[in-house]
Amino acid sequence: MKKSLTVFNEIVEKLLKDEANHPVAEFIASGALFDRLDLELGEEPISDEMLRESLEDLVMTTPRTATNAFFNQLFGGRNDKAVLGDLLSVLLNNSMYTYKAAGPQVGVEKIVLRKVCDLIGWDENSDGTFASGGSMTNLMSMLMARDAKDNDARYHGLSNKLTVYTSEESHYSVPKNAAFSGIGRNQVRYIQVYKFGKMDPEVLEYAIQEDMTAGNIPTLVNATAGTTVLGAFDDIEAISAICQRYDIWLHVDGAYCGSVIFSNRYRHLIRGVEKVDSFSLNAHKMMGTPLTCSLLMVKDKQYLYDSFSNDADYLYQTDHDEFNLGKTSLQCGRRNDALKFWTLWKSVGTKGLEAMVDKQFELAEVARDYVKTHSNYTLHSYDDSISVCFNYKDLPARELCTLLYEHSKLLVGYGSFGKEEFIRLVTINVQNDKEDILNFFQVIEEFVAENKSLFLKPSSVS
Ligand SMILES: *Cc1c(COP(=O)(O)O)cnc(C)c1O
Repeated sequence: MKKSLTVFNEIVEKLLKDEANHPVAEFIASGALFDRLDLELGEEPISDEMLRESLEDLVMTTPRTATNAFFNQLFGGRNDKAVLGDLLSVLLNNSMYTYKAAGPQVGVEKIVLRKVCDLIGWDENSDGTFASGGSMTNLMSMLMARDAKDNDARYHGLSNKLTVYTSEESHYSVPKNAAFSGIGRNQVRYIQVYKFGKMDPEVLEYAIQEDMTAGNIPTLVNATAGTTVLGAFDDIEAISAICQRYDIWLHVDGAYCGSVIFSNRYRHLIRGVEKVDSFSLNAHKMMGTPLTCSLLMVKDKQYLYDSFSNDADYLYQTDHDEFNLGKTSLQCGRRNDALKFWTLWKSVGTKGLEAMVDKQFELAEVARDYVKTHSNYTLHSYDDSISVCFNYKDLPARELCTLLYEHSKLLVGYGSFGKEEFIRLVTINVQNDKEDILNFFQVIEEFVAENKSLFLKPSSVS
């Protein structure tokens, strides 16, 4: 083990050094990948030295998600404390289903969930769990909503026509999960958004009434705290009033921006969250932990047991259910995703988490300001969001993003809202400072100036 840890340290050191000078890894076209790297698996063992070379090569050419040139996804940066916690969970290799197998790590998971439930404003009756991603916490909420509405479904299968409501800007896991849960993709209603990309509550209520008239059973409303493209927050207060009126489960998908719960300044964006039935957040997004770290909180923990517990004598041999976390989880064997977040939280305190959230909004403000005050840019997104969407010189966003990637300049993605397609800059990496955001724009400007001939419509580049 010691030898491998030494190799690990040496490779990491090399990577960190190289990242400082080359924030973007060398671009390798997928077609050339297997020629460029030795990925082949052979019959015979190889020497440690050869293995190390293969690993080093692989690590050095892998896309760099922790640097100040990665803005492609809703995660980024590298929090050293969270990494430390995660490395320890790899080494310890517990599975979180029982107290017998995970011991104090159960307490680590429980305290993190307890603290988040407290922040929401929920009592002892609430609880939560970790799942392998935001898509899965959304699935869990849908399963609980289904079982709450149709108690028989988990025994006999669905016998009713259930319907699910989500905004047209929400995450694609909703229709997938509708397929998984037996509710069906066609039973998902995509509710129009109005200003700033928020779900229109009036349209929602109308859709619910129409479905009831048609004999459908409205079962779940999936609201979003931070939509994937614009980073918009649905109006939880307004939506929860509707859900209460029609007795519908309300889940808030906060995978992207639910972490505003940690900030006194920004938690107003999820005002009313204490009224919902379930709420999820990805600490691997705004909180910068390694992937994945997805929390699901449920106001009434009985629903977690109802939908996810299954007796298994070979597994649950000791201790109370409360310490056997497998009774409320989607998976059986489950890695310890709590320790990385706990390590970070323990180290910086709740105030430190708050500062991380606030910093992301500050950086977004810097970016929006830049776009607004430079005439070659057009802004397509709104305040109170850490997604800053824009176009530069009316260049096609898709093409510009791809060229920046292929030339190893920047990793940034594009998105669309209505008829507009644009670049989406996400200010989620708290290791970035104002200069890094300004540098982002400078890289784009220089690249476009130096590569006018690359664009389809060179006439548009002045
Ligand atoms: C990222 C995201 C998800 C999915 O989370 P994964 O952990 O990637 O599965 C779901 N909903 C929203 C709004 C997201 O931004």
